[in-house]
Amino acid sequence: MSLTARILTGMAAGFVLGSIVHAMGLDPEGYFRVLVIDGLLDVGGRIFIASLQLLVVPLVLVSLVCGASNLSDGAALGRLGGKTLGLYLFTTASAITLALVTALIIRPGRGVDAGIDVEFEAQTPPSLKEVIIGIFPTNPVEAMAEGSMLQIIIFALLLGFAVARAGSAGARIKSVFEDFNAVIMRLVTILIWLAPYGVFCLMATLFATMGWGEISTLAAYFLTVAGVLLMHLCLVHPALLMILGRVSPKTFFLKMREPMLVAFSTSSSGATLPVTLETVRARLGVRNEVGSFTVPLGATINMDGTAIMQGVATVFIAEYYGIDLGLAEYLMVILTATMASIGTAGVPGVGLIMLTMVLQQVGLPVEGIMLIIGVDRLLDMMRTAVNVAGDGMVAVVVGRSEGKIDMERFNDMNATVDNEDEKVPTSAA
Ligand code: ASP
Repeated sequence: MSLTARILTGMAAGFVLGSIVHAMGLDPEGYFRVLVIDGLLDVGGRIFIASLQLLVVPLVLVSLVCGASNLSDGAALGRLGGKTLGLYLFTTASAITLALVTALIIRPGRGVDAGIDVEFEAQTPPSLKEVIIGIFPTNPVEAMAEGSMLQIIIFALLLGFAVARAGSAGARIKSVFEDFNAVIMRLVTILIWLAPYGVFCLMATLFATMGWGEISTLAAYFLTVAGVLLMHLCLVHPALLMILGRVSPKTFFLKMREPMLVAFSTSSSGATLPVTLETVRARLGVRNEVGSFTVPLGATINMDGTAIMQGVATVFIAEYYGIDLGLAEYLMVILTATMASIGTAGVPGVGLIMLTMVLQQVGLPVEGIMLIIGVDRLLDMMRTAVNVAGDGMVAVVVGRSEGKIDMERFNDMNATVDNEDEKVPTSAA
């Protein structure tokens, strides 16, 4: 069986097992629930996520040092950074615009009586100033220990840049980092091989405990978010891939299936990062200089799916409370949701917390979040898959425009780490 088929089988088996357990209404204190669902499977699922997260910091550091050391001049880095940031911001802003327009046509909040006791303690999101200052690390070890992705990216870029300019000492360090890179990639492939078991555990534990009741009350909201996610995935991404990247969206999506399925199962673009990066480099052929920069940056700041949820949620909450928003407020929503997506960490459920920032900005009651929290788990899974697809898409488009994509590898459906001689392709190699 192909890896995708194995992952899908794991997901389906987990879904079926979890749903059966849920439907049987097994006693949460009973042996089966305690030992198998909350015991064995929960442990398996958490270990899987932990193992993915374990690889993120070393992977980003090592691959980006290699990547930056191959970027010959500052101008190249500036261009790469500009294009990547520009595309991430553009796709997020278009995602939220699409969400607002669709939600305003469908009006998912009309006539909803959620009957939910609304009490919610708003958390104060950090100010933009703090966010910007926070990107720059004071202590690289602390940045790595805390997994502060943007800080690690800045440190790795600086280090890589210095490596390229440090003569023979730099060359020696570079070769060590390149060897490390190959070894970590191998570790990622081993873990991906275990992914079907991991997703089985995650899906079984989730569906054993998740109720469907709230989805029917909030069906219009749920379906609007799901519909816009699908539109973004089927219209915006393919259009950019074809127009800017001049590549086949079909090949792209066929190859991105695995990271998207892992993103769906883990609800975390951060935890999926090792799988995304492996796919982007080894299967889509994006050179390490571009992939090692765009993918970790995307996993941290590019959240098209999250922005879509925030757009629909804003319209829904405004309607629920009978508050009319004007054009200026909607423009404000686009701006704040785009900014909020930069500050949203790639972990489960954070998008909903960042929604407070958007609601506060346009004067909507933050308690409104409680209305939609019940269906957020499933939507989080879907939007994370869209977030991850967006990261891959931008990596390919930027790679193509910089001439740093191996089109033969992109078009080769069998391309894997195995057939790249254990080394990540770089332009210099
Ligand atoms: N779970 C999302 C992600 O990791 C973030 C969110 O929308 O909550 O990309």
